Amino acid sequence: MFFIELEPVFNNEGFSREVNFTLDMSDCYFNGGFPFKESVVISGEVKNSTDIVSLVAKAEFTLNLTCDRCASEFERTFVIPIEHVLVTELNDDENDDFIVIDSFHYDIEPLVNEDILLSLPMKILCREDCVGICHRCGKDLNDGPCDCGRDYDPRWDALQQLLEDDR
Ligand SMILES: [Zn+2]
Ligand SMILES: [Zn+2]
Repeated sequence: MFFIELEPVFNNEGFSREVNFTLDMSDCYFNGGFPFKESVVISGEVKNSTDIVSLVAKAEFTLNLTCDRCASEFERTFVIPIEHVLVTELNDDENDDFIVIDSFHYDIEPLVNEDILLSLPMKILCREDCVGICHRCGKDLNDGPCDCGRDYDPRWDALQQLLEDDR
């Protein structure tokens, strides 16, 4: 939990308050494991400019990941923006992008947690053009072609593509 006192922010145009904390997401299951080895670092501020209160921050974290295609393990660092307008109630001309706070003593951790989860990619690749492993002999084709290609049946490629599209 990370509570911010929002009352002075809402009541004072031009006021801002720093938002710096770390978030333990080591129990988050993703990519077949628990990739958050270190805490997520959140830094930014909540500010009131022209009586619009917004949270403007970033979350930085490094994940230990496994490539969906070649199964190699690697680390990747993410920096994602956490940006929301906070309101005490919704008017008709506002929409769901606004976060309605239930109290001036407000825990922003669930909001940040959700942003981080939504930012995680659907597909994990060690690199954009990873060619994966040979479905026949298991060789990592990123290191070069394998030797079993002579009587290789291309139908395996079609099958593999179906499996990947399924994810
Ligand atoms: Zn790969
Ligand atoms: Zn092969």
